[in-house]
Amino acid sequence: MNHYRELVNTDIQGKNVLLREDLNVPTDNNEIINDERIRAAIPTIQYILSQNAKLSIISHFGRPKSGAFDKKFSLKIVAERISKIINKEVYFEETPISEKSPDYKNDITLYENTRFLKGETTGDDNLAKKMAKNCDVFVMDAFGACHREHCSTFTVSKYSPVTCGGLLLMEEIKNLDKIFDKPKKPILAIIGGAKISTKLTVLRELINKVNAIIIGGGIANTFLLSSDFSVGNSLSEKSMIENAKEIIKLAAEKNVLLPLPKDVVCENQNQIYVKKVGDVNENDIIKDIGPKTSLKYKKLIEEAGTILWNGPVGMFEKSSFESGTKNIAVSVCKSKGLSIAGGGDTISAVQKFSNINEIDYVSTGGGAFLKFLEGQELPGIEIIKKL
Ligand code: ADP
Ligand code: MG
Repeated sequence: MNHYRELVNTDIQGKNVLLREDLNVPTDNNEIINDERIRAAIPTIQYILSQNAKLSIISHFGRPKSGAFDKKFSLKIVAERISKIINKEVYFEETPISEKSPDYKNDITLYENTRFLKGETTGDDNLAKKMAKNCDVFVMDAFGACHREHCSTFTVSKYSPVTCGGLLLMEEIKNLDKIFDKPKKPILAIIGGAKISTKLTVLRELINKVNAIIIGGGIANTFLLSSDFSVGNSLSEKSMIENAKEIIKLAAEKNVLLPLPKDVVCENQNQIYVKKVGDVNENDIIKDIGPKTSLKYKKLIEEAGTILWNGPVGMFEKSSFESGTKNIAVSVCKSKGLSIAGGGDTISAVQKFSNINEIDYVSTGGGAFLKFLEGQELPGIEIIKKL
């Protein structure tokens, strides 16, 4: 890790610290429904406060229209939650950072949603200069947003005297590096989810790095189509059939095992059937992998030395179609191999079906986790690299 500038090796004693966190938690009716992301930021916050620094925190929250305030996307409820967790007053600044020069007069201030600011998502230089005003050290800790070249995740570092990585960001990097740095073999990737188009790059990349890829979910349907099976009315992407064929060919060339579902759970006019993939008819909708496929996947998970999981293998939100994903979650938790999972829906599935603590590492990133696996440079990590 010595090629990164880390917060723990940076002198912040009594200094003005600007901290970028990912506090983008899910809400319902302006209430936080899951505060995992806030809790993940607490160690960094506590550490900075323990150094008698003056702390200003910035984050995005949802996807508001830029340049306008929208109460639905206000971070005020997040300030209250942080305050409750650390048992200390968190001053909430309703004016987003930059419109008023940050003065670092409070011990801890949370500024309103950075995405209310014009120039945030375009990485505007002028906005970055204003954000960095009066700060001595910029701490990047928002792993979930580090694939974005936004003002508060990237450009701001140009104008802050020092930039370093917070505890959460460093923890993510250390754990994710383990996947490809002398991993225990066989390495197994489990890739599910709705659409192959969002996972295509990662699939191509993984073929060069893993020994087997289990495919499930909506993306398996396109693979089945490309192997001349009918998928009836299931979700699939016809424009991706050639890409799926190419992936199958590449996997064969590289000796990467790429099992497809042998049986599936379908819905047809409110009736639910388990069918062999060859028996799916034109009105069936495939919504989960079948029990035989689950057993086969379980065996591969048991044998794996390293497991990487992104994407549910069925529409697990409904109990009739949760079995496949539930079985995977349980097997991954029980496995002796190093297990790493990431992705918004994947984490929800793990939380729903198993004890999340039994997975070796759960990434807080969705898009950033995938980009990392794709082997791409992440702007929010580039800024903490030593020259
Ligand atoms: P993650 O957020 O973990 O990256 P994705 O967003 O890629 O995962 O995929 C999750 C979604 O995929 C879930 O909402 C799930 O219902 C859907 N899905 C899984 N299997 C199917 C299927 N056979 N047909 C349609 N949607 C599916
Ligand atoms: Mg998702």
